[in-house]
Amino acid sequence: MTIIKMSDEKYKRANADLIEAVNFVNSLDEKLANDVIAAVMAVVLYQCRVGLGLIEDDDDDKLSYFERIDAIYREAAGDCYFCMDIDPNEVKPDDNTRVCMFCRIKLNNIFKLINS
Ligand SMILES: [Zn+2]
Repeated sequence: MTIIKMSDEKYKRANADLIEAVNFVNSLDEKLANDVIAAVMAVVLYQCRVGLGLIEDDDDDKLSYFERIDAIYREAAGDCYFCMDIDPNEVKPDDNTRVCMFCRIKLNNIFKLINS
C-alpha cells in the first residue's frame, strides 16, 4: 500500500515536512500502516472537533493538525461573504458568493435559534 505517491511533484512541494513520515508509513506492512493511519485520523478528527467548538477540551492549545487544516481552509475560502470587510448594503450576494465553514456553522446556529 502506498498512501501517497511520492513521485507527485505537487505533493513534494506542498508537504516537504511530511515526506519522512509518509515514507515511514509506506514502509510498514499493510495492517500496521492502516492502524497507524487510523490512529492519526482519530487525532486529526478529534482536533478538528475541538477546533470547531463541537466538543470541549481544556488542552485546546495543542491543535497543530487542526491549525494546518484551518490554514488551508482559510486560504481556500478567503473570500467568504461574511468574513470579508465589505459593506453588505453595497455588495449583494450572488451565485458566486462564498461562505466559509465557520460562517456556515454560525448561520446554522442562528437558524436553529430562530426556528426553536
Ligand atoms: Zn466566513
